[in-house]
Amino acid sequence: MKTLIDKVKSGRKSKKLVKAARDVDMDISLAHSRVADGRLVLFENILIGEGAPTRVNVNVGTSSSASDAGDITEACIEEIGKARIARELGADTITDLSMAGDLDEMRQRVHSAAQLPLTTIPIYQAVSENGIESLEVDAIIDVAQKQLHEACSLVLYAGFTREMLPALRKRTMPMVSKGGSMTLAHMIHTNNENPFHEWFDEFIKLLRKEDGVLVLGNTLRSGCVVDFAKFNLSKDSPELLEFEVNRKLANRANEEGVQVIVEGLGGHIPPSSIASAVRTFKKRCPRPLFVAGPLPTDLAVGYDHIAAAIGSAMASGAGADYICCITAAEHLSLPTAEELRNGLIATRIAAHVGDLMKYGLSADEQKMAVERSRSNWESQFSLALDGGLRARARFSPSGGGCTMCGSFCALRTVERYFSSHL
Ligand code: SF4
Repeated sequence: MKTLIDKVKSGRKSKKLVKAARDVDMDISLAHSRVADGRLVLFENILIGEGAPTRVNVNVGTSSSASDAGDITEACIEEIGKARIARELGADTITDLSMAGDLDEMRQRVHSAAQLPLTTIPIYQAVSENGIESLEVDAIIDVAQKQLHEACSLVLYAGFTREMLPALRKRTMPMVSKGGSMTLAHMIHTNNENPFHEWFDEFIKLLRKEDGVLVLGNTLRSGCVVDFAKFNLSKDSPELLEFEVNRKLANRANEEGVQVIVEGLGGHIPPSSIASAVRTFKKRCPRPLFVAGPLPTDLAVGYDHIAAAIGSAMASGAGADYICCITAAEHLSLPTAEELRNGLIATRIAAHVGDLMKYGLSADEQKMAVERSRSNWESQFSLALDGGLRARARFSPSGGGCTMCGSFCALRTVERYFSSHL
């Protein structure tokens, strides 16, 4: 079977790609050439990468703590509700991280509630069903195959290898990726190489057969800003070592006709390093770059949705293509539906700010300026990133303005004096 990359490389047009390009006002031939080069990915029905808007992913899924507490049915319902919120509040993609309950059913229900392109992480289900130590690569491949029936993309942790272990020992927090920690534990227990790396060609065959998108996971993201600063992308920094392997694997996957998104620079990064690090990664590998965060400080615990929005706006503005919703519950607990709602809006604001930095002011910014100057409240609300949900609920009119300044509304005062004296 020919994959999308095979088709566009042979000069054929894809109807789905034509529609996705029109949706973002991208020249159709340019979209085809960027997909052929791997700079742009067609992710089910949306474009991610060069020239496309910054895309937002939301993670949902049951935690193993739900089954420990014996409330698995309620936990599943809660996660499915979050998938619905993701769609309603404008997420572009959804990732199912479930590790408790009937995982096949959860994946299908999350997908059906969200109606968004779905990503899955095969090692989560493989470990949940087999344990870490007795995990066999065949079990991961079987899960990956099964998941690709619903999912359009898989996260594989193939860029981390045994030779990177010494660099991790120099960190305060050696590794903070959950999927990465499972992979690492399996490697240490079996004394083998990373199975995703060793069996990469098998996964590629599978992705090729289903024309799925490969997401090369970022297991070596820093868990605190000081760990990033210790190496600061020197040649022995864990982030760069993993990224370099992922870069080569991405080239191999593209040569085999598989579309690729590369994860990198998530985690915790000092604010002064974010933009330059993103530019370095994009220069070395111009494929779509996915970042989770990065958090520019570790001290905003309890408010990490705000810290992450600041970090991801900086990353997106410097060239990151795809960012992940982080909630206030980060590092603390599974988020509530309300925390997810607030985290998603914060992430969408970050994506929009990033796009303003990348592409300049949008037409909606111009329209908003006019509507605000005229105090056209309903028009302002309909332009808001959340469709005006919060603004309509908070608006309190007073004297032609709002209760902030009451009868001393600056807009009305200036209008009155401008029109009568100038
Ligand atoms: S009252 Fe003050 S805050 Fe409200 S619209 Fe007028 S100037 Fe703006």
